[in-house]
Amino acid sequence: MTTLPTRILVTGSAGYIGSHAVIRLLEDDCHVVGLDDFTRGNPGAVEAAAKFAEESEGSYTFVEGSIGDQSLVESLLRDHQIDLVMHFAALAYVGESVHDPLRYYDTNTGGAISLLRAVDAAGVNRFVFSSTCATYGEPSADRIPIREDCPQDPINPYGRSKLFIEHALRDYKAACKAQDRPFAYAALRYFNVAGSDPKVRVGEDHRPETHLVPICLEVAAGKRKELVVHGDDYPTPDGTCLRDYVHVVDLADAHVHVMRALVDGDERHYNIGIGQGTSVLQILEACREVTGHEIPARMGPRREGDPSELYANASRIKDELGWTASRTDVRTAVEDAWRWMQSNPDGYAR
Ligand code: UDP
Repeated sequence: MTTLPTRILVTGSAGYIGSHAVIRLLEDDCHVVGLDDFTRGNPGAVEAAAKFAEESEGSYTFVEGSIGDQSLVESLLRDHQIDLVMHFAALAYVGESVHDPLRYYDTNTGGAISLLRAVDAAGVNRFVFSSTCATYGEPSADRIPIREDCPQDPINPYGRSKLFIEHALRDYKAACKAQDRPFAYAALRYFNVAGSDPKVRVGEDHRPETHLVPICLEVAAGKRKELVVHGDDYPTPDGTCLRDYVHVVDLADAHVHVMRALVDGDERHYNIGIGQGTSVLQILEACREVTGHEIPARMGPRREGDPSELYANASRIKDELGWTASRTDVRTAVEDAWRWMQSNPDGYAR
């Protein structure tokens, strides 16, 4: 009988999604080793998770360092007898990836390969990878909602930098199989992620902030003058883009669910979304309702590279593993994000 993984390395543990995953793992009494170089992560997120670890039966050891430091990662994997790696550490701004592609390939592709080399050397045989719906590119209308068998044809360096790692994992797994070595992985293709921990232990603090929900809430909080809607001439019901907003707590939960399901030889690819599209104007309306603030908005031009509709068919993970997002009303994510913002007006003030 194989034992379930309980000793987990979380890369990017000081980031938005990584820190929520740490909390979720601690709730299950896991022993978590976090790794982050603070390029985009927040020391405050580490402190917050470490504080929660004291109340849990699990533990949280944090190490400041890079996924590209192979000898550091290898010793962490060995010293802490890691069962499974959850790999969140990455750069994730599409626009930035267009202007600085080499940095994206360096961190997201090169960094992940270095991490996999450490995994290989230390003999760790379970890996959960943060992939993205950006690997699908701009699917034709008949491919929406997007299923996992939709051709992957990214339209920006960010999407490509992640897709390479899906390929690398597939090839690495095949090589392990040929050598009779156990290995299993899952690539979770996230759609839009929103919300915060409802208990306000960790939250969302991107700098710079470019995401729709926090921007609307910053306007509500008086930190920004207005929301600029990036285009209202799309072929959608209200003319604004449709996206699939999954609650970050559901996303973290999906990781733990998948982690527990992996058995030797698995290669699993799952969309993580709620399976329905919400428009920019619907998000704006939800933010107005939740905050009770007017949130001034004006129409602006389209943002380069924005497909009109991106939402998931999320039935594969439901059919195969019985997991489904439970926070399907986008207002839940907005309420939780707003609670975090009100309790932490300066985010993780640095
Ligand atoms: N958006 C917008 N104004 C903003 C930020 C975002 O209209 O200030 C739109 C954006 O064009 C997209 C949707 O909101 O259609 C979601 O954008 P976000 O940056 O949150 O996530 P993305 O879909 O780019 O990953």
